[in-house]
Amino acid sequence: MQNFHVPEGLISSLRSAKKVMVITGAGASKESGLGTFRDEDGEWSRMNPMDMASPNGFSKNPTLVWKWYRHRRQEALNALPNLGHTSLATMEKLFDTFEIFTQNVDGLHQRASSKSVYELHGSLHSYHCFDCSQPFENIEPINDETPELCTHCGGLIRPSVVWFTESLPVDVLAKAEVAAKECDIFMSIGTSSEVFPANTFGTIASHYGAVTIEINPHPTIQSDLFTYRLPYASGQILPLIVQQLQEK
Ligand SMILES: [Zn+2]
Repeated sequence: MQNFHVPEGLISSLRSAKKVMVITGAGASKESGLGTFRDEDGEWSRMNPMDMASPNGFSKNPTLVWKWYRHRRQEALNALPNLGHTSLATMEKLFDTFEIFTQNVDGLHQRASSKSVYELHGSLHSYHCFDCSQPFENIEPINDETPELCTHCGGLIRPSVVWFTESLPVDVLAKAEVAAKECDIFMSIGTSSEVFPANTFGTIASHYGAVTIEINPHPTIQSDLFTYRLPYASGQILPLIVQQLQEK
């Protein structure tokens, strides 16, 4: 049985904090049974990312890409938010500002009832036209086999996830930069910190005086930069942090 330890200084820093910024990555969804991509046994070890997650890949074989995302969307819907997700939703109520910037596209933070969630890499649950960019956020395609057609231009509808070679949503990035500068606490959860922007906002937050916390069972290339490093899965340690915060 692993002994979980939450440093006392971390709890007192959280108690006095008004603004918290959280970045989550694939590790935060791993305990819900959803695959990670960059691990040794992750999805990208079995397929070429450029085939499945790039505009070029979609142009070459839209049916294959559509099917894969429809399958991943169904997996996300079948999964349940884990204790990490629900703990973050509870923590949101304890602070003036508690913003989650997620690299995940599965929608599990929202399903755990977190309100301030910003998706850096888009979502498996929304769509837009590959040709004219018309958003189709409130439609639920019924065809799992081939892409639906845009009602405006007849182009192919694609999932609104950010693919390789594509830019992250500028509005979300801008919001994250402000959050990084203003937060009292920065938490990096389940992300390898190898991918922009997870690897920059911690540095910004730290530069602007935030206490920084890394939650990840494995050390990352940025581990040494954090004030506190908690070598656990988020579903293990966040419930303890919540419990200690709620104790008088
Ligand atoms: Zn269109």
